[in-house]
Amino acid sequence: MLRQLLLLLSRSPAVKGLVTRVPVSSAIVTRYVPGEATEQAVAATTELAADGLQVTLDFLGEDTLDQAQAESTVQAYLELLEALGRAGLARHAEVSVKLSAVGQALPEVGERLSTDNARRICAAAHQLGTTVTLDMEDHTTTDRTLATLRELRRDYPETGAVLQAYLHRTEADCRDLAHEGSRVRLCKGAYNEPESVAFTDRHEVDRSYVRCLKVLMAGSGYPMVATHDPRMVKIAAALATRNGRMPGTYEFQMLYGIRAEEQQRLARAGEQVRVYLPYGDEWYGYLMRRLAERPANLTFFLRSLVSQ
Ligand code: FAD
Repeated sequence: MLRQLLLLLSRSPAVKGLVTRVPVSSAIVTRYVPGEATEQAVAATTELAADGLQVTLDFLGEDTLDQAQAESTVQAYLELLEALGRAGLARHAEVSVKLSAVGQALPEVGERLSTDNARRICAAAHQLGTTVTLDMEDHTTTDRTLATLRELRRDYPETGAVLQAYLHRTEADCRDLAHEGSRVRLCKGAYNEPESVAFTDRHEVDRSYVRCLKVLMAGSGYPMVATHDPRMVKIAAALATRNGRMPGTYEFQMLYGIRAEEQQRLARAGEQVRVYLPYGDEWYGYLMRRLAERPANLTFFLRSLVSQ
């Protein structure tokens, strides 16, 4: 119930107005978002890379209905990629893009515009020798996001995408995408989805995650195991061994600020580990999804809000 409420509020402009009075510097925000500016994102990436971790950076923003806003998001990614290049981080970092941040939700032109915008980001990443992964948003966008992925892969076959194990369709999507050269980031799923399209029971989501992992690990693509769940991490490692995969032919991924010690432990054990690092001032939707996953943080968060 609380999870659903928080996910509903994550899309409420009124609550967003209230909540974003919390400064980005407050502890609850910085736990998940290291800063607003490109320099802060690059500095955080440098620190993670020094610890032997890979990074994927997300310039925060989503659901834009404003073409100028979509363009400024593209510019932010281009600036970020340039800064990563200057800092010598191209081997350690890639970027993650939400198509709704680059215009997907705009009426009529959205699909074309977001694909073209994502292509510009892919071109800059490719030039730098790194990659782009498309985030997955709510289920109404899955088909369009996968269509964009197919189009981008024609020119930039290294482009990856996220699949969400809570959706009934995902095991089949994993089969379609478990081919040579394909990069799939498998997560459980973070949106408020109806029972008609998604498993809503936690255990059912976990079982689906394992079925999807089995398909990806047995396939010839590059599975990116995005979870903090110790059971899923163990099962993924066992499936990798069973399928004769060496570390580096798959990777683990976790969010910035969540189970940081486990990220380092896995990296020290020789696994490839990538940290998803969001930055920017549009942190509201992202933070609300993190609170929905961990309502225990809510009291802490409400305290920061009333102390403003
Ligand atoms: P859970 O069962 O939710 O959590 C397992 C354990 O992890 C918990 O017991 C707790 O110890 C810890 N944990 C989990 N969440 C938190 C938290 N917020 N704060 C503190 N501790 C926590 N979802 C999408 O829908 N689309 C995407 O594109 C997407 N991209 C992602 C990319 C990466 C790299 C990762 C790691 C996740 C992404 N997600 C995305 C979010 C994902 O769908 C889940 O909502 C999130 O990862 C929590 O699920 P879990 O697998 O960690 O398992």
